[in-house]
Amino acid sequence: MRIANTISDSIVDGPGLRLTVFTQGCSHNCPGCHNPDTHDPAGGREASIEELAALLDHNPLLTGLTLSGGDPFQQADACAALAKQAHARGLNVWTYTGYTYEQLTSAAQPDWTALLDQTDVLVDGPFVQAHKSYEARFRGSTNQRLIDVPASRRAGRPILWTEKDPLTHFSVPES
Ligand code: SF4
Repeated sequence: MRIANTISDSIVDGPGLRLTVFTQGCSHNCPGCHNPDTHDPAGGREASIEELAALLDHNPLLTGLTLSGGDPFQQADACAALAKQAHARGLNVWTYTGYTYEQLTSAAQPDWTALLDQTDVLVDGPFVQAHKSYEARFRGSTNQRLIDVPASRRAGRPILWTEKDPLTHFSVPES
C-alpha cells in the first residue's frame, strides 16, 4: 500500500496508545485539509503489509491501530489486510474517512465492505471548516461522527461510539 507516514505512539487518533498509519491518496479535497501532502495517490512511498504489521509488534503498550490519511477507503483492500493483522493481535481499529457511513454502506463495494468488517470505530465525513473545532475529541470538525461500526451494522443505522470509563466501566458520552 502507499503511505505518507506512520506515528508509533499517537494519543490523539483514538483512545489509548496507537500506531497511526497515514495512507497516501485522497480525492475529497476538503478546504482547509491539514494533510494536503497526502492527496496525490502517487506520492508517499510503498509499504508492505508485513512492514506495517511489524510496527504493531514493536510496542507492547499499543492499544490500537488507526488508519488515517489520505483516505484509507481509497486503498481499502490493503487497509483491511493490515487491520486484520491488528485484530489478530488483540488491538482495536479506528478508521478515518472523508466518506460518510451511509455512502460506504450503500455502495455495496466489496473492498469498502472488507474494511468496514475490520473497523471498530469509523470517524466519518469530510473536514468542514465551518464546523472546525479544537474541542471535538478525535476529529477536526463537529460534522464528523465517531461511529461504532459493529453496533451500527447490527442496528442498521449509525450508532455513535461512547467511551467506557476505565474506572467505572460506564459509557462516557462524546462531546
Ligand atoms: S478526507 Fe481528510 S485527508 Fe482527505 S481532503 Fe478531507 S481532510 Fe484532507
